[in-house]
Amino acid sequence: QAKHAGRNRIQVYSDRMESPSAESLILENDLYKALERDELRLHFQPQFSCRTGAITGAEALLRWEHKGKLVSPAEFIPLAEETGLIVSMGRWVLRRACALAQRWRTDTDWPLRVAVNLSAVQLDRPDIVDEVRAALSDTGLPATALELEITESVVVRESLRAAAVLNQLRALGVGIAIDDFGVGYSSFAYLRELPVDRFKLDRSFLSAIPQSPGDSRLAAALIAMAHRLEVGIVAEGVETAEQAAFLASHQCDEAQGYFLGRPMTEDAFGVLLRQHVRTQHEAAVSPPDAS
Ligand code: C2E
Ligand code: MG
Ligand code: MG
Ligand code: MG
Repeated sequence: QAKHAGRNRIQVYSDRMESPSAESLILENDLYKALERDELRLHFQPQFSCRTGAITGAEALLRWEHKGKLVSPAEFIPLAEETGLIVSMGRWVLRRACALAQRWRTDTDWPLRVAVNLSAVQLDRPDIVDEVRAALSDTGLPATALELEITESVVVRESLRAAAVLNQLRALGVGIAIDDFGVGYSSFAYLRELPVDRFKLDRSFLSAIPQSPGDSRLAAALIAMAHRLEVGIVAEGVETAEQAAFLASHQCDEAQGYFLGRPMTEDAFGVLLRQHVRTQHEAAVSPPDAS
């Protein structure tokens, strides 16, 4: 129960129960203090070019170190969204991710891009564009080195408002990626009006590749569709060599997943990137485009 307290909170408050469980209240209470107690951590998962194998970027993934254990974002982000805490936590994530990315770029002279997940609650805030602009100017990270990930469901639900905000963010030079692309939405109409730079193909499309011909064809079609729309595509959840080979043979742009690199601590990512850049130079592979 405690493990899923965040997720089940709505259910906890439903008429099926008299009052929220003690556990969920404790978790919520502790979450309020997570920031000031310095319990938030950022992990980074590398993203790779399917063509060259070079690291192109890293996705920042939030962790909460609560009572000596790392709590998964699936458990506390819904709670943070309900309580509005996601606003201050999201600001922290954005600033820290930009600062680290800029440090790594300077250290290695590698055109690393950093991807930051944005919640619908943050996107709804009138000052989100100012916040992103300030994070960039305070850290010195070029706007083109930042990508903001927004889940497809949010974008579809708030198509019009989202388009206005996304256009302003893009005007700064920031890239916009649609996270969990392809899940649960039958309408592609939003693609007409939304300013988007990349799709992140949800990992559910990859899980049955190569065994399932149907899934393989679908994934191949979504990659081709991205290209026809002149939108970049990165596949999430690459867990096997076969999946990586499939993506490369279908000209997917980039890939991310446990097979290629797990989410890791800031320090571990810094070490990985330095090693990677060294071997890339030894192999005389040119770095990916700075954009
Ligand atoms: P997401 O943005 O779709 O992130 C990808 C998730 O898939 C991450 O889970 C990552 O650890 C996991 N993953 C990566 N490669 C593989 C793989 O090969 N196989 C499998 N099975 N999983 C893989 P994580 O870190 O638990 O994050 C879960 C979700 O929490 C994220 O999904 C994102 O929606 C949200 N999240 C994480 N950090 C933040 C944040 O800073 N702000 C906001 N608003 N949401 C965040
Ligand atoms: Mg994401
Ligand atoms: Mg995703
Ligand atoms: Mg996903």
